[in-house]
Amino acid sequence: MNIQTPASIAAPQASTLQRPTREEAEAAVRTLLLWAGDDPNREGLVDTPARVARAYEEFFGGYATDPVELLARSFEETDGYDEMVVLRDIRLESHCEHHLVPIIGRAHIAYIPDGRVVGISKLARVLEAYAKRLQIQEKLTAQVANTIETVLKPKGVAVVIEAQHQCMTTRGIHKPGVSMVTSRMLGAFRDDPSTRREFLAMIGSPRLGAEG
Ligand SMILES: [Zn+2]
Repeated sequence: MNIQTPASIAAPQASTLQRPTREEAEAAVRTLLLWAGDDPNREGLVDTPARVARAYEEFFGGYATDPVELLARSFEETDGYDEMVVLRDIRLESHCEHHLVPIIGRAHIAYIPDGRVVGISKLARVLEAYAKRLQIQEKLTAQVANTIETVLKPKGVAVVIEAQHQCMTTRGIHKPGVSMVTSRMLGAFRDDPSTRREFLAMIGSPRLGAEG
């Protein structure tokens, strides 16, 4: 399959940005340690800049993954299967682009195939490719849904994400236990209330159905 990545879901063109060296990244972490009020040279912190640089490679590994490519290998032998495919309770780990702190939650992804299906783990990997970038939850939700729609051209796509933002729970207004819920419904999930209700019942979130 030859698929053009639309600009709306394309990764930022990192090649046009000057990537610092590892030494420069570690120096920046030392600056932040000083800013926090501590001594970067004390024993417990001396290796922290190197650890943080490595952790960032893991937290933000999604920039190196093309989500469109992940879905490109699809299967057309579905034996006529055209019912909803739902992947629910996928663990979500991302980072807020405003404060660089974790967003932790779960995602539910569904689509109704139109002659083309993918291995179910690919849906989780698309989520991960976008989650391992600096994010806001609304954009993450839309990117996952739009990518599935663009590549698989299904009859419908639904993505619901429920997550806690540590920038809300550990700083600012300090509201632990508050989850943010975002959803993106396309095709049949948007147009057909019974399809949407069926999906929301499957993920145990009928409240969203009442709103929509
Ligand atoms: Zn934040």
